[in-house]
Amino acid sequence: MILQSLMPWARPHAPALTAQGFDARREQSRLSTEVLRRAAHLLAMTAGDRGSAEQQVQQFCETLAQASPHLSLCWVWFGDADAPVIKPHIVAGPASNWAAELHIPRNLLTEHGPAYKALAGCAPEPFNVNAWSLYPPWREAARRHEVRSVLALPLIPPMDPRRGLLVLYADTPDYFTAVGQPLFEALAELMSTVLSNVARNQQLALAARTDVLTGLPNRAHAQAELLRLAQAEHHHPVSLLLIDLDHFKSINDGHGHAVGDAVLVSCAATLRETLRRSDELARWGGEEFVVWLPRTGLDDAMCVADKLRRAISARPHAGELLPGGRRVTMSVGVAQWRADELLRDVLLRADRAMYAAKNAGRDCAVLAPEL
Ligand code: GH3
Ligand code: MG
Ligand code: MG
Repeated sequence: MILQSLMPWARPHAPALTAQGFDARREQSRLSTEVLRRAAHLLAMTAGDRGSAEQQVQQFCETLAQASPHLSLCWVWFGDADAPVIKPHIVAGPASNWAAELHIPRNLLTEHGPAYKALAGCAPEPFNVNAWSLYPPWREAARRHEVRSVLALPLIPPMDPRRGLLVLYADTPDYFTAVGQPLFEALAELMSTVLSNVARNQQLALAARTDVLTGLPNRAHAQAELLRLAQAEHHHPVSLLLIDLDHFKSINDGHGHAVGDAVLVSCAATLRETLRRSDELARWGGEEFVVWLPRTGLDDAMCVADKLRRAISARPHAGELLPGGRRVTMSVGVAQWRADELLRDVLLRADRAMYAAKNAGRDCAVLAPEL
């Protein structure tokens, strides 16, 4: 009774030995104790954001495959509900080599197979391999690997638009029904929750690194990335650009804060579009941006600064001219970051160069003197 209330899938009256000659009750007990303990541990781990989703699910599948000698393969796929192909991403169990070759394109035949049916119906699909199994090459491979039954379970992580499948293969016909399908459904639900936790942690981590207004990486992200670069002891030149929009206060004063915000968003997009993908850009704060250019010396960095400056002043960022018929312009300080220089020192030099650009009349770039 206690077992039943703790584990509703447990079947106290399950026959000790099935017609296939395996002990279904013993299977139930080892799967529920070992795998559930592991699942509980994973849930705790993912609640604290450790490791990637793939690592967590891999460990889960390995525990599941090791828990029973009858489970020959356990694989997981993630993707869109209307994916054109299903291919195992995570694989565990003695028949893992076979899973590496598995590639199930969506077609009229495969849509009647357990994987696509479980995905479409959002319900478990048990399947016995027999002489009538639809797809002969798959049927032959299943025989070679001594697979007699399959259970495809949908993974529907709340808070994650992705869908997934947990597909289990056993060496005995009707294995999953004999052990009790609800046990496997409960495991799939736990796995969905693990995936959901990981997705939520990733969203939180992304939000912590992103500037809400412009969508650019924020200052915390820029600082962490620059420190990472410093620790990697960059041997190639890295150039740093500190950008500050000119007379921004007059935009807010003349047109209101909402227009100021729109100008910031537009300037951020212009800077991002003008830079190469390998160049990094972040909102440093207020109306300031930082750019760091890997493998770029000072001459090239000055060219980039000029290109950005021209791109900013060429666009009507507020959709019209600003107070006094002025266009938005920016001032830039450019500094080369030497491998042995502290991050705070190069930032200070770039900042001084930026103020020199302000003093030189704004709308220009100034090079920080070499150390
Ligand atoms: P300078 O040419 O010397 O840089 O003049 P400035 O007016 O741009 O410089 P200042 O530092 O005096 O003003 C920056 C302004 O940017 C003040 C602040 O209200 C505004 N600002 C900072 N963050 C935001 C924001 O998120 N949205 C809006 N609308 N304004 C912001
Ligand atoms: Mg400023
Ligand atoms: Mg400014």
